Amino acid sequence: MAISVVGHANPDTDSVTSAIAFAALLTAQGMEAKACMQIAAKDLNPESTTVLKRFGLAAPELLTDAAGKEIALVDFSDIAQGPANLTAATLVAVVDHHKIGDVTTNSPILFRAEPVGCTGTVLNKMFKEAGIAIPKNIAGGMLAAILSDTVNFKSPTCTDADKAAVKDLKVVAGVGNTDELFMEMLKAKSAVAGIPAKDLLFRDYKDFDMKGSKVGVGQLELAALDQVADVRADLVKAMEAVKADGRHSVLLMLTDVVKEGTELVVLSDDPALIEKAFGTKLTGNSMWIPGMMSRKKQTIPNLQKAFGC
Ligand code: MG
Ligand code: MG
Ligand code: MG
Repeated sequence: MAISVVGHANPDTDSVTSAIAFAALLTAQGMEAKACMQIAAKDLNPESTTVLKRFGLAAPELLTDAAGKEIALVDFSDIAQGPANLTAATLVAVVDHHKIGDVTTNSPILFRAEPVGCTGTVLNKMFKEAGIAIPKNIAGGMLAAILSDTVNFKSPTCTDADKAAVKDLKVVAGVGNTDELFMEMLKAKSAVAGIPAKDLLFRDYKDFDMKGSKVGVGQLELAALDQVADVRADLVKAMEAVKADGRHSVLLMLTDVVKEGTELVVLSDDPALIEKAFGTKLTGNSMWIPGMMSRKKQTIPNLQKAFGC
């Protein structure tokens, strides 16, 4: 029976390309293995679809039920993130870069997890250790995964090992400029054409209680602010509707991942309070805040302070 190599539910580029890469490594080592994922190819996110196409990689096959199968996990080890009946499968390997999850086994298995930014980085080491050359197209997929998981090295999760892996893989994959590759992926990920403004606002949105005031904060990661120029008025309309539904303020972070800053669109009962929170004046209904990338680490703490939480 072939080993089914599978990444987590709602797969990202790392889960998809790591399944491909690890299946290739196992195959090169004389085992029978195939790459799988928990959704159909047509449902894959735009970034991963772009990466597979760019490097000519076939999408992993659909795996929804693990019962009775030999399974290898990549990019996770939590039962809840796995296919159905994972506990009724035979787990044969795990390659990961997250906290150890709750899978268990009856026999010893290959378990390789490292505190690095991407499973692709771990797999690059494993190919090296095995003395097996990474096929060019697979190296491209692994490279893309590292750029995605580390947000082009800007994430606090990025390590020297990830940077070293990118150096190796870009040569094998024949990618001269990794910034360009990252931009291509980002553009795919942040494409807004044809998506209703309300869906964009809620794509990554959370409500917070600020000392009794309900404050909603959405975020869109963009390659450039002009990506949303055409839908901007509709976004504000969608924000108005959400604010009218009992909120003190609704904020939308339009984060320019390239310039590393955020245009904060603000609808508030007390605009001066929001200006105070970020030490910046509003121009119309928005302000540019250099260096702001993280809602959790930057936007919310500043708001909490201003609201006196
Ligand atoms: Mg992942
Ligand atoms: Mg990952
Ligand atoms: Mg990720």
